Amino acid sequence: MTEASVRRALEQKKRELLSDLDRLTEPPKEGASVGFGKRVGDGTTEAVERLATTAAAKSISRSLEDVERALTRLAEGTYGSCEVCGDVIPRERLEALPATSRCVGCATA
Ligand SMILES: [Zn+2]
Repeated sequence: MTEASVRRALEQKKRELLSDLDRLTEPPKEGASVGFGKRVGDGTTEAVERLATTAAAKSISRSLEDVERALTRLAEGTYGSCEVCGDVIPRERLEALPATSRCVGCATA
């Protein structure tokens, strides 16, 4: 796995996350909820949906931060070593999770 291919994978991931975030945060389409506004309890459903959207957006933002951090670490030359213990992160782990900054031991600790 070369540095260039890692960077490509990370940038691809970043684009995916950004478009996911866009989809989540874009205002509801005009007329999308027409006909659903008159039942009792809809306010609750909407609130629950908003909460779910917020939670999803938060988790995407966290992943984005990881990707950004990995790109920074790549630029600094520290990519591929655990930011906690400094051990080399196994290549298979980086291939599966290019944005990870911790070895398995530290990630699960
Ligand atoms: Zn570690």
